[in-house]
Amino acid sequence: MTGATLARPPVRHQEDTLMLDQSPTFGDLRLPARFWAKVRVLPNGCWEWMGACRGGYGRFHVGNRNALAHRVAYEALVGPMPDGLQPDHLCRNRPCVNTAHLEPVTNAVNCRRGSRAKLTEIDVRMIRELRGIISQRKLAQAYGVVYGNIGFIQRGESWIFPTPGG
Ligand SMILES: [Zn+2]
Repeated sequence: MTGATLARPPVRHQEDTLMLDQSPTFGDLRLPARFWAKVRVLPNGCWEWMGACRGGYGRFHVGNRNALAHRVAYEALVGPMPDGLQPDHLCRNRPCVNTAHLEPVTNAVNCRRGSRAKLTEIDVRMIRELRGIISQRKLAQAYGVVYGNIGFIQRGESWIFPTPGG
């Protein structure tokens, strides 16, 4: 028996492969100037949509279509949204169009996040202190949030606490 037969590829979960590590550039020319004119950068890195919103999400006209602004940003800067997935905000800031804060998830995951645990500041501090000690997946289970949220909290400068109903 050779070592090769023992070597199994690590199990890759879909969430791992879809995590976004690349940093998009504000003002990227793949989006029109009229898009960027409606965006302001917040201290935590969110690109907040200042234009029209519906249900808390920014809207942007593309041709005859009144599209979701964060989705437009994702498709321009990252690529087509994979079939059956929708961009979810890791920063929990609905008007944000920063593609580094978006993660494609299934509708089921998005719904689960909708009823997400309300993390307190103490939770967030604890999650950061446990970085590298407890796996992101275990932390996600323990706190009732989705895997991607843990990485965002641990990497992110700040975390926007969900407002009631938001
Ligand atoms: Zn954001």
